[in-house]
Amino acid sequence: MSQRTLVLLKPDAVRRGLVGEILGRIERKAGWTIGALELRTLDRATLEQHYAEHVGRPFYEPLMEFMASGPSVALVVEGERVVEGLRTLAGPTDPIAAQPGSIRGDFGTIVRENLVHASDSPESAEREIKLFFPPLA
Ligand code: ADP
Ligand code: MG
Repeated sequence: MSQRTLVLLKPDAVRRGLVGEILGRIERKAGWTIGALELRTLDRATLEQHYAEHVGRPFYEPLMEFMASGPSVALVVEGERVVEGLRTLAGPTDPIAAQPGSIRGDFGTIVRENLVHASDSPESAEREIKLFFPPLA
């Protein structure tokens, strides 16, 4: 089943020079393609919509600050079961709990600075694509 999903390479990934490494892992998956890609420093309004489900959580404000701290790479990835596939490629939220071989498991230690975002369902993907790439909605 072909799908699309919204991926962010967060400011830590860009600062640490891991963009090529992470994009390479995505590109090498059979049949997956990058449908849109942009380097962009995310503004507060976009981040508030993107992380609306987390308002009020103790990690919310530090997360917003971190996500606005420098450029991210936003992209749309298309292909077979790509929503689940990107979550698997990323690994669980806590990089220390993430398996080596996953992006977070290979490169992360801090929960907040866990390198990547990937939509958690096809419905979230459509909402997030509309937010980050309105022409693709
Ligand atoms: P995911 O990105 O895996 O979908 P969540 O939606 O639960 O994870 O959280 C969104 C983001 O908020 C995480 O990717 C991470 O950057 C940050 N975050 C989540 N939980 C915590 C926490 N307990 N402490 C610090 N940051 C957190
Ligand atoms: Mg999430």
